[in-house]
Amino acid sequence: MKRRDVIRNISMLPIAGAMPFASLSAAPTQAYSNFDPNTDLFSELGVTPIINALVTMTFLSGSLMLPEVLQAIQSTAHDFANMYELQDKAGAKIAEMLKVEAAMVTSGAACALTIGTAACITGNDPQKIRALPNLPGPPKEVIMQKSHRYLFDQAVRNTGVKIVDVTGAQEMEKAINGNTVMALFFNAADESSITHEEFVAIAKRHRIPSFIDAAADVPPVENLFKYQQIGFDLITFSGGKMIRGPQSAGLLFGRKDLIEAAKLNHSPHECPIGRPMKVNKEEIFGMYAALKVYLQKDHQKEWQEWLDRIQFISTHLSSIPSLVAETTIPDGPANAFPGMLISWDQGQVRISPAEVVKQLLEGRPSIFAGSRKDKLSIGVVLLKPEQVAIVAKRIKEILMKAMQ
Ligand SMILES: *Cc1c(COP(=O)(O)O)cnc(C)c1O
Repeated sequence: MKRRDVIRNISMLPIAGAMPFASLSAAPTQAYSNFDPNTDLFSELGVTPIINALVTMTFLSGSLMLPEVLQAIQSTAHDFANMYELQDKAGAKIAEMLKVEAAMVTSGAACALTIGTAACITGNDPQKIRALPNLPGPPKEVIMQKSHRYLFDQAVRNTGVKIVDVTGAQEMEKAINGNTVMALFFNAADESSITHEEFVAIAKRHRIPSFIDAAADVPPVENLFKYQQIGFDLITFSGGKMIRGPQSAGLLFGRKDLIEAAKLNHSPHECPIGRPMKVNKEEIFGMYAALKVYLQKDHQKEWQEWLDRIQFISTHLSSIPSLVAETTIPDGPANAFPGMLISWDQGQVRISPAEVVKQLLEGRPSIFAGSRKDKLSIGVVLLKPEQVAIVAKRIKEILMKAMQ
């Protein structure tokens, strides 16, 4: 549009004082589009809604946000906020709730690993923040136990560090040198050659920050307080797992100077390594609300509800000959909540657990279950109340059919 046209168009606008108030307050969607917000978008896009009868998985969109979280997002999404202020104030409140010096909301535990590591490398130095992951000089090093190496250490290596594997306290002690920037503990590793306490003590002795990844490690709720008491400098939990905040949210908390440095390595700053891992106010308010609910809720009652669900499904299947339904509670620390393993004599009920899983997934509604050790693995903690009976009924139908 030429400048002359702009001026002409402006002159055609009613003067401000004469503009009817009603037209100012009209919602843009109603005013300018026919979009119906009640459209079933799953169906419009041809995407199958899935019942998650297993555990939280990112590829299945994590967990379902609590109604309180959706409400917190709804009630805050209509106004702008200064994201620096919101991150600071929500972080201060979260830190108070978790009894730590400082906290922040990240876009997930994986983001926390990246910006937490970045914080250990750069501190508040703007030049280093800009330079990551290509700092001059020899690569910085992060110490991990060899048995703790896992897929998510990519999120640490994103910062350009080299991971140095150690086994046992002595090797850890020896591996620390002038290039060491951090020591990372993977809480849910199958085995550890160094205990949490030893790990923290060695790191402290050498003034190296220690970081623990406890992403999937609630319940129990006490774990949200446990690792700061042991002395870890940085701790992360996912927001979108059992805390049931937004899937694109996580918590990073611990030492104040490191959290401040992590913020400098994150959005809304424009150049740092964490800029593409943006959280907006929806994640921050949503994460804050989810944590508040999680800390307040009656965990015993919820646990009993899970056991009742298992009982319901077992009872529903009890007429299937040879069927055995076991309640399992993994030792943790990850996914330490009740689930079921269901098995049967495949001579009588002629179908394998893997085939049941396939039929559950292909049926409608589509149900995501698992098979383990030739048993059907069913999780109950992510089911909506009305889905418990649906899952029980579908399993029974499939098993009954296999007996015909
Ligand atoms: C899930 C998980 C992550 C990643 O968490 P997000 O919140 O999805 O980014 C990292 N580490 C461990 C051990 C996890 O279980």
